[in-house]
Amino acid sequence: VKQQHLVVIGGGAAGFFCAVNAARLQPGLRVTLLEKTGKLLQKVKVSGGGRCNVTHACFEIPELVKHYPRGANFLKKSFHQFFTTHTIQWFEERGVALKTEADGRMFPVTNSSQTIIECLMKEASRYKVDILLNRDVHIIETASPGFTIHCKGFEPLACDYLCIASGGFPKPAAYQFIEALGHNIESPVPSLFTFNMPGNPVTELMGVAVVEAQVKINGTKLQQQGPLLITHWGISGPAVLKLSAWAARDLKELNYQFSITINWLPHLNEHTVRTWLQEQRTATGAQKIHNTTNTGLPKRLWQHLLLQTGIDEALRWADVTAKQQNLLAKNLCAQVYHVNGKTTFKEEFVTSGGVALSEVDANTMQSRLRPGLYFAGEILNIDGVTGGFNFQNAWTSGFIAAKSIAAAAPFTTV
Ligand SMILES: Cc1cc2nc3c(=O)[nH]c(=O)nc-3n(C[C@H](O)[C@H](O)[C@H](O)COP(=O)(O)OP(=O)(O)OC[C@H]3O[C@@H](n4cnc5c(N)ncnc54)[C@H](O)[C@@H]3O)c2cc1C
Repeated sequence: VKQQHLVVIGGGAAGFFCAVNAARLQPGLRVTLLEKTGKLLQKVKVSGGGRCNVTHACFEIPELVKHYPRGANFLKKSFHQFFTTHTIQWFEERGVALKTEADGRMFPVTNSSQTIIECLMKEASRYKVDILLNRDVHIIETASPGFTIHCKGFEPLACDYLCIASGGFPKPAAYQFIEALGHNIESPVPSLFTFNMPGNPVTELMGVAVVEAQVKINGTKLQQQGPLLITHWGISGPAVLKLSAWAARDLKELNYQFSITINWLPHLNEHTVRTWLQEQRTATGAQKIHNTTNTGLPKRLWQHLLLQTGIDEALRWADVTAKQQNLLAKNLCAQVYHVNGKTTFKEEFVTSGGVALSEVDANTMQSRLRPGLYFAGEILNIDGVTGGFNFQNAWTSGFIAAKSIAAAAPFTTV
């Protein structure tokens, strides 16, 4: 039997995971990995601030899929085959221990993404994956059987199995080589960004972090709750990033011009805040309202909201007018801000969009249109919120593709 050949396009997390696992699971298979640039695993390297947020400590499939604005139903099936627990075990068996932070994100105990890179490189060399750099695949021809891969400036390469793990592209034109195979692409839009609020006085509080706030996009049902960070250009933090992911398509349509409502005390509503303000007036009437410390808010934010309400530093609780009290309740629970533009979050960003999931089998990652063609990672129309969910998709889909290819390839001795 002729030795079978797998070509993987893309030297990122998904491509590596597919290549090293396929080579290990099917020793008779020849595996070649093609990378467009001169560098491997670039995103792994910079991810999580150089620490690589490998996965998330979430161990229930129905819970985990809630973190994927696109692809949840697809992953529900895939996670049965390769889950967070498998990721942790896979790295642990290769000497890479992971640790969990308070917010559930998991990192290598070394706090260095280099540990993950070295582990994947070692596997590639152990199982003799042939890695070719500066190979920009621009045309894929279907042959019978298999495929012929054309890279700019190099001889064509024939293979029996092909896994496309080329990551997300910001421009629709970049997906052309996949569309040419008959696949439909959901148009790409950015996800995981922060909101710009240029000139808004709240930005004077840059650096202030609120433990829990709720942000709503006005005119939609989209809202998220969680930590919020005020920056010199607007707002950031998990609540905002999660919202940007869930609203990625809507916000693109609005050209990133929209208004939001923030509830700075999300455990309360306007009515309960009004009651609390009334109690404060009665109980601490002689005290200056600016000096109140039991609000649960950072002091600078509390004082800022008071100034926004027209309450100056000298005012005592007893002297707050009914009008001020109502306005303060509104500013605490339903303050409206205008957002004008977005900023890429440096720690983690993804492309929403990619290969239509209806055309891919979630149990094998094989194309439903072309036998022998597989997809893994961000090239699929799957994306998660921030916290390690995007890498988990890369590991899961990369592994499943590898396993299916290894099972499909006839065993040969070399
Ligand atoms: C700054 C940053 C930080 C991040 N941090 C985290 C994090 O901490 N946790 C998390 O879960 N996610 C994180 N992400 C998201 C995560 O990195 C990606 O979702 C994940 O890397 C996707 O893996 P991939 O292998 O599918 O694609 P990629 O990592 O993008 O790899 C694709 C590879 O394919 C190559 N390629 C593209 N086209 C071709 C072609 N035509 N021919 C040959 N090669 C090609 C590219 O050069 C690239 O090397 C971060 C992303 C960024 C940008």
